[in-house]
Amino acid sequence: MSTDAREPDLVVVGAGAAGLWLAGSAAEAGLRVLVLEKTPRTGTKVLASGGTRCNLTTTLGPLEAAALFGRAGERFLRPAFQELPPLEVRRRFAEWGVPSDEAPLEKVFPRSGRARDVRDALEARVRAAGAALRLNTPVLGLQREGSAWVVSTPDGPVRAPRVALAAGGRSYPRTGTTGEGYRWLEDLGLRLRATSPALVPLTSPDPWVHDLSGIAWQEGAVRLLDASGRMLLRRERPLLFTHAGVSGPGAMDLSGPVGEAALNGAASFSLQLDLAPARSREETRQLLVEAGRATGAPRVSRALPERVPRRLLAALARQAGLPGPDPRVAHLSREHRHALVEAVHGLSLGIDGTRGFELAEVTRGGLDLKQVDPRSMRVNRLPGLLVVGELLDLDGPIGGLNFQAAFACAEVAARALAREVGA
Ligand SMILES: Cc1cc2nc3c(=O)[nH]c(=O)nc-3n(C[C@H](O)[C@H](O)[C@H](O)COP(=O)(O)OP(=O)(O)OC[C@H]3O[C@@H](n4cnc5c(N)ncnc54)[C@H](O)[C@@H]3O)c2cc1C
Repeated sequence: MSTDAREPDLVVVGAGAAGLWLAGSAAEAGLRVLVLEKTPRTGTKVLASGGTRCNLTTTLGPLEAAALFGRAGERFLRPAFQELPPLEVRRRFAEWGVPSDEAPLEKVFPRSGRARDVRDALEARVRAAGAALRLNTPVLGLQREGSAWVVSTPDGPVRAPRVALAAGGRSYPRTGTTGEGYRWLEDLGLRLRATSPALVPLTSPDPWVHDLSGIAWQEGAVRLLDASGRMLLRRERPLLFTHAGVSGPGAMDLSGPVGEAALNGAASFSLQLDLAPARSREETRQLLVEAGRATGAPRVSRALPERVPRRLLAALARQAGLPGPDPRVAHLSREHRHALVEAVHGLSLGIDGTRGFELAEVTRGGLDLKQVDPRSMRVNRLPGLLVVGELLDLDGPIGGLNFQAAFACAEVAARALAREVGA
């Protein structure tokens, strides 16, 4: 329970990435802050993040990072990422005793490799700044009464002139995020974009894909195509075959449009894996031609410079219609060689959906960004209401970008509140 009997200046709903950052910054600026958290602990998703290592931000610059959130997201996040650039996030964590290191694919992890250190630093800062933190306190709803907001909890109502909603999305519901924040926003008459799972493994109807379960391809490029064959997205990220389809950053980064389409019934997409994106088709063709002339009559597996696992090679051979899973290159017809080059640079598999919110790292959709001031996170026409983090219609790719967005929106909100109260 709060030790301060006076009404707080700000109630923060949700002690996740955005809520903890906002509560710490606002309390440091002198506001009396009360944080209400449904679960018995703070930052559950932070603890689970990055395979429990927490990819806390990105090595990209603020504008490059904002550009990865789509056109509307980029416009909304630019000011926030300029106020709190990724480098500043790292500097702050270092100041709080959590130095970080850069990792491949523009990632940043705590030097200790422990997500717990990130969560602990965020929580310790909230407590040190004097904010009150009530755990095991699910918010049930909120309403406006005169110039105040009344937040209902099982322990009774809490009144405050300002409320910041940081209750997260509906992805990974076992971490506490079951999406009730969207209902509160709807009940207030606000416009929301339908939510769907994003950064989520994809399902494939093709049994041969399931048979490749466990195979990872690190250096590939992955393309997502719609039913008419139009390319929607491309990412150079690792791909992992699973018993249900594909996972890994390469697949998950492309999952947004599939999740959205699946809202309206079955999704119909295809995914193409380029196993050698650093090489042109012509170079691959040359490799095969040369291998066809080489002594020792090498097989396809020896002609390709990358070590293609046997099961994956068999899938390439099947797609290319080759005579056998690993034929000798010299025995290939011109047509077979051409088809093999196409398969190496675009192994095609069907995609019919996602693994859903249960396995989604973020939620696509949420509060329409046009209803929020990007320089303060205040909701238009509802004085005293702020929304930060995943409840907003924002989702970025894997690579520390979603925490960067949560922290930056929270910092912008805290600075605006500090200006409001003259701190
Ligand atoms: C497995 C996994 C791994 C991830 N890894 C990364 C990563 O490495 N890097 C990255 O950038 N992003 C990662 N993400 C995404 C990232 O965790 C989210 O984008 C981020 O946590 C969103 O912050 P938030 O504060 O909006 O929501 P959250 O961090 O989800 O916090 C919301 C909080 O609100 C609480 N809450 C919900 N409802 C109520 C209620 N009714 N009353 C009171 N409290 C409530 C929840 O319990 C929770 O504590 C990962 C996500 C998952 C699921």
